[in-house]
Amino acid sequence: MCGIVAYIGKREAYPILIKGLKRLEYRGYDSAGVALLNGGLNIFKTKGKVSDLEALTEGKHLTSNLGMGHTRWATHGEPNNVNSHPHVSQNGNLAIIHNGIIENYATIKEELINRGHHFESETDTEVLIHLIEEIQKASNKELDEAVRIALHEVVGAYAIVIISKNDPEKLIGARKGSPMVVGIGEEGEYFIASDASPIIEYTKDVTYLKDSEIAYINKGKLTVKTIDNIEMTPEIQKLEMNLEAIEKGGYEHFMLKEIFEQPKSIGDSLRGRFDPVTGILAMRSLKEYEHKIKNLKRIIIVGCGTSWHAGLVGEYLFEDIARIPVEVEYASEFRYRNPIINEDDLVIAISQSGETADTLAAIELAKEKGATIFGLCNVVGSSIPRSSHAGAYTHAGPEIGVASTKAFTAQVSVLVLWALGFADIRGRLSKSELSKIMAELESIPAKVEKTLACESLTKELAKQFYQSRNFLYLGRGYGFPVALEGALKLKEISYIHAEGYPAAEMKHGPIALIDEEMPVVVIATKSANYEKVMSNIQEVKARKGKVIAIVTEGDTKVSAMADHVIEIPETSDYLEPLVATIPLQLLSYYIALERGCNVDQPRNLAKSVTVE
Ligand code: GLU
Repeated sequence: MCGIVAYIGKREAYPILIKGLKRLEYRGYDSAGVALLNGGLNIFKTKGKVSDLEALTEGKHLTSNLGMGHTRWATHGEPNNVNSHPHVSQNGNLAIIHNGIIENYATIKEELINRGHHFESETDTEVLIHLIEEIQKASNKELDEAVRIALHEVVGAYAIVIISKNDPEKLIGARKGSPMVVGIGEEGEYFIASDASPIIEYTKDVTYLKDSEIAYINKGKLTVKTIDNIEMTPEIQKLEMNLEAIEKGGYEHFMLKEIFEQPKSIGDSLRGRFDPVTGILAMRSLKEYEHKIKNLKRIIIVGCGTSWHAGLVGEYLFEDIARIPVEVEYASEFRYRNPIINEDDLVIAISQSGETADTLAAIELAKEKGATIFGLCNVVGSSIPRSSHAGAYTHAGPEIGVASTKAFTAQVSVLVLWALGFADIRGRLSKSELSKIMAELESIPAKVEKTLACESLTKELAKQFYQSRNFLYLGRGYGFPVALEGALKLKEISYIHAEGYPAAEMKHGPIALIDEEMPVVVIATKSANYEKVMSNIQEVKARKGKVIAIVTEGDTKVSAMADHVIEIPETSDYLEPLVATIPLQLLSYYIALERGCNVDQPRNLAKSVTVE
């Protein structure tokens, strides 16, 4: 999940690397480092953030036209100075940065130790650069060839960049499982990065490296080869991302900006995909897979974290609207538990980044067993859409805050469209019913906009509750995934223990935790379960819990029993998660602020989980 960036060309490398690392910091922020080639190989690295690296390099000789930088999310070895990347080979001639895990590093390390290698760090990464040097030495190979041979020996996932002290005109990048994009600038200038954000201001021409490909940049020329040494013609694409989308635009945090972007991101995810007047859906996945959708027996939704919560909303939608049986699975469990999958199944893989390692592995498994795969991702060109048969993008724009907000509501928006489309294809909905739900869907961005006005109220509530040690989130029906997502947001950014529960299930355990100290957030809108949820609120109140209820505008009944209420506009049950999630996002944001937490970069987390 680390962020990597590298530059070769006529400009000063260091400022490009630092700026790039700041943009990639959402991917990991345990440590940061750069290697610059300027006469020798100069490495600066430190535990901490990119700002700590800047402090470390102040006043140092940083002039160079070739360099690479890394921001780490530690997998092997604690986050300290020594384990920070870049790592160097035994003779100090080669340096590497790496995103991923070399799974067989221990075996390789042992062999290398027997051959006299000494290791400075506990990382898997250092082993790889030593291995490359060993291959160069033992079989007298050129660096290009040694890298290729070494990559054949490693098991696991990697996006790596290598530079050599002896070759000031060479940059080598390679990937398998972890993302890598190569930017092509002017006059033999090249960029390599984990995503396009460090590249965007210098060039729009990029090529996304495919799995098991190596990019050799040598004397101003790019050659792409597979690890089997077959030369490939790189597919050059134009970047569509713009710079404003990856900057804070006046907001204190990316997370707040992204919460407030939701009327637009939901609108963008829906735009052009349906017409309430005709009840027609225009999505390629529906058109091209109509026959499959008509005959499929089951949908399996796989995802992790917030995407799994969106998947749970998906389950309710597909079963409710299209009457198709659905299973929602944590990708990490699904892939290792020998699931029963066949050709009649459709697997929907949900991932914001499109790079989530477990989700990718889950779809590979399902593909092997003959299932059809639909990807639902935000990052265009990422690995999951590329490995899926079909799918749809959530057009939410770059999401940089580590806690997912706008990606969740965009995922749910597309799932609503799919559920409607599937129902239509299978003759489960009349055109007039379709049009009715679509008309309601069209009003969602405005309702989300209206809901955002609860910001000041959530700020007040945050002041009151930020010292709580635990929170309970309750919901029923469509309110249950919302409760799970609300609890996850709070945990992630404020480090308060929070649990999401089906409201009725509370009686079977969590009710024991309730006392006057316990805030209980309840999704108590006028949905099908309204009366039932009110009984659950009574149960909480009878034990002196403090109830914060999310209610439908104008509600009086819940308001009479809850300690605090946040009103949201009325909408149909199907679409409620799109609106009811908003106050919970704001509540966790302001609680985290009150607690002085780093909202955009919560401890131990990283945005794009490219390790399993
Ligand atoms: N395995 C490497 C390390 O721990 C890279 C980690 C990653 O990409 O998240 O340093």
